[in-house]
Order: sequence, then C-alpha cells, then structure tokens
Amino acid sequence: TEAIDWARVRADFPLLTRQVHGKPLIYLDSANTGQKPESVIAAVDDFYRRHNANVSRAVHALGAEATDAFEGARTKLARFLNVRSDELVLCSGTTFALNLVAYSWALPRLQPGDAIVLTRMEHHANIVPWQLVAQRTGATIKVAELNDRGELDLDALYTLLTPEVKLLGVTHVSNVLGTVNPVREICREARRRGIASVIDGSQAAPHRALDIASLGCDFYAITGHKMAGPTGTGALWARREHLAAMPPFLGGGEMIKEVRFDGTVYNDAPHKFEAGTPNIAGFVGLGAAVDYLSDLGMAHIEAREQALLAHATEELSKLDGLRIFGSARDKAAVISFLVAGAHAHDLATLLDLEGVAIRSGHHCAHPLMQHFGVAATCRASFAFYNTHDEVEAFVAALTKVRKLLA
Ligand code: PMP
Repeated sequence: TEAIDWARVRADFPLLTRQVHGKPLIYLDSANTGQKPESVIAAVDDFYRRHNANVSRAVHALGAEATDAFEGARTKLARFLNVRSDELVLCSGTTFALNLVAYSWALPRLQPGDAIVLTRMEHHANIVPWQLVAQRTGATIKVAELNDRGELDLDALYTLLTPEVKLLGVTHVSNVLGTVNPVREICREARRRGIASVIDGSQAAPHRALDIASLGCDFYAITGHKMAGPTGTGALWARREHLAAMPPFLGGGEMIKEVRFDGTVYNDAPHKFEAGTPNIAGFVGLGAAVDYLSDLGMAHIEAREQALLAHATEELSKLDGLRIFGSARDKAAVISFLVAGAHAHDLATLLDLEGVAIRSGHHCAHPLMQHFGVAATCRASFAFYNTHDEVEAFVAALTKVRKLLA
C-alpha cells in the first residue's frame, strides 16, 4: 500500500470534505453504505445529461447508447467478479437477489421434510426469504452456530448437512462481526452432499478481490451501494443450469421473447429475470465504481483496510469497559462494540455531535444479537478512504463522550 497516495484517493470522495454539527465528518459507516467517488457521480450525471433513453426498446441512437452502457456495466461487473456475463442477473441489490433465489429456485423445489441450513450471523436478508419459503413448502430451517471468536463452528455446520438439506445460505463476511467465512471450503462440503449453496457477498465484494467462479457456490449475491456504486444496484450470479431451470420471478417487459394470450415465450437468462425498466443510470455508475476499485486494486484496498482495522482495534482495546464483539482470525474492517454503562444509541448520538458517524442498533441481525444477549451494538466500519488520523479522532471522541454517560 506504500505505492498508493491515500490522501489523493480520499480526495476523490467529495462528501468526505463535509462538516456535520460544525465538525469535520468522520464517516465510519461504510458497511451500511459506501461513499461514492467523483467518477461514479460523474458517470451517473453524464448518462442523464447525454445518453438517457430506455434500454433495448428503441432503434434510435440514444436507445443504442443506453443499451450499450447498461450491457457494458454488466460486462465490467462480470469481469470484476470473474463470472460469465450471461450468468449475472442485474437487480436492485442483495435483498432482491436472495429473494429471486428463494422464489424462483427454492419455492418450486422444496417439500415437507426438506431442510435449509443458515448461520447465526446472517443478515435478515438471508433469513426472512427462507422463512417465507419454509412456511409455504413445509421445509424446516436449521442454524449453524458460532465459536467464541464469532467464527462459524465448521464441524457443527457440516454435521447439520444431512440428506434432507437442500440448500445452505451463508454470508461471505459478517456485517456485524467482520468474520470472513471460508466459503470455498464450505461450498465444497455442500456440493459433495448435493446441497445448493447461496452466498451473501454484500460485505465481501467491497473489500476483497472476488473470484466467484472458483468458490464452487451455486448462487452469489452482491449489492452495488456498498462497493462505491449507486443505491438500487446489485446482482445475482447463478450457474447457467440453474438460471435455465428457474421460472421467472417477475413478469413484464424485457423478460419475454413473445407474448400470446395462449402462452408466452420467455427471454433467455439473464434477461428472463430482469422484467421492466432497470436502474440504467445506476448501473452505469456501478460500472464506473468497478473501474475505480479495479484501478486502485483490491489487494491495496484490503491491505489499507486491514491496517485501519488493526490500528482501531489496538486503540479501542486500551479503553476500560469496552467490549468488542468478534475476534475472527480472518476479519474485515468492521468493529462492533459496547461500552459498559452506556447505551449503543446514546453513544452513537453523542459521537454524531462530534462529527463521527457510526451505526448503532441490531444491524439487521437479530439472531446474532440474541446469541450475544444484547439488544444492540455500536459498529464502526472502515473503508480505504478513512485515515489513521480519523481512527485516533474517533477513539478520542469516544473517550470524551463516554464520560458524559458515566
Ligand atoms: N446482507 C448483508 C450481509 C448486508 O450487510 C446487507 C446490507 N446491510 C444486505 C445483505 C442487504 O443489502 P441490500 O439492502 O443492499 O439489499
């Protein structure tokens, strides 16, 4: 990371020059949504100023430009993830992607007596769709638990993978604990047993080089807004044979070849799953985001974030009565914590007045909160555009505000 001028990188993000409550903003909520570089903002702006038209429905020049821009973003994203672009369904984000798997793949297949295995650290987006499927099919849900470090207990997980299990849902990286799960190994174990695997990659794609083709999963979901792209963008990667076998989730324009009242012929994947007008400008922005991350280099990004994580962990560990949740050996730059005697929301509110943006709450992970016996935690999440000075300012602000609550 020595080769990178991180101050110049930070200057690519206009929002980070803001003040809040009269203080310089210290944005430590990138696990919630990431900030956007100038190039992404400019790409969205340029699309609306110069190329705006709908995709695939017009022969005029702008229609062709819009279609090329949209499909170009698919190609860039596919390359970034190392998958085939015709296996990449563009959608509004991870939530949509996981629901697509639930409704189109799981709902027609699962039966009473079947089981779905999930983990204790899943985001609600990788729990609730499966509960809806389980309610409608009579399948049951089993939960893989964690060890003391907040890592998956792999032996316990594999013990759960019995013949009635048809599907395994695992997050690649926990949005609360930062735990990075060994998904390649987990998917291999699932595949050996004939179990389809669904990986929630929301918190992985922004932080590490991904090679989805080598993971051995069946489905992989990402969300664009956490990886420097616009909100309302994301994708589901699925094996071609799954996409071919899955019925459409939503019906409408774009997803058909021919519509007759006595029967409709669907378009080929991935278009079969992309009914209606997509978030064209958003995907143009996501294409620019992928370019930005690739130019910077995911290895540099990972090293930078690991350095910030190590620094913040060390500084926070010096504070009395501060409890950090999760100490995985492989951990992304997310720190969930509580301070004895202080409510998470009170800390976050006082930190906001100091200019420090962290998240407090359950982080859409109620079962994980239940595991720890807490209602909420504070979460500071770091991105490559944060600085070591910000880490120190955050810890100083925390030291100051906790005194107000003592
Ligand atoms: N899974 C995980 C692990 C997440 O962190 C998030 C976003 N908080 C989601 C799923 C949902 O992503 P989105 O809201 O963009 O669909």
